[in-house]
Amino acid sequence: MLEVVKFYGFNPNFAGMMCCPFHEDRNPSMKIYEKNYHCFGCGESGDATSFVAKLYGLRQIDAAKKISYDFGLSLFDNNRVVKVKPELTEFQKYSRWLESATVIVSAYLDKLNDWRERYRPKNENEKLNALFVESLQQKEFVEYLRDTLKFGSKEDKREMYEHDQAVIDKIKERLQKMKHIAPPRRRSI
Ligand SMILES: [Zn+2]
Repeated sequence: MLEVVKFYGFNPNFAGMMCCPFHEDRNPSMKIYEKNYHCFGCGESGDATSFVAKLYGLRQIDAAKKISYDFGLSLFDNNRVVKVKPELTEFQKYSRWLESATVIVSAYLDKLNDWRERYRPKNENEKLNALFVESLQQKEFVEYLRDTLKFGSKEDKREMYEHDQAVIDKIKERLQKMKHIAPPRRRSI
């Protein structure tokens, strides 16, 4: 109980008394016990969940979720453990983006390298394969992206995060499309 009221900005004194947030209280008249609270002024009382429910105007269940969320606890919902994710900080968002962008770009570069060899025309009369052409057009640029994401300076990576997310998204889309195309079947002999 004490942890909860402190978390939401209250500071009970040495005797566990604090000003009641539920009535206009000038002198601390709310007592915080180990598992509940009681206001000697207005008569409000309850446990940590009802305190938060009343404070934020929430239903009991939502107050329980809020506490679980705010304290990074797991919540039981329909017998299923629901992990409540804390909100990501800006830096965490950036780090995650960087990580996934690197994976995406590297995967695409692998494909381009593969196509460059696999679909290289055998002679000059052969019609160019579209994937071979794509590898010619994209390889250098994608190498640059990969190198920046992997080995670039902090500033360069940030710059990419701020301006080039759309480019990475396009590559991601390209990779996803590829998954829908079944690989050519080998003819059985
Ligand atoms: Zn009160």
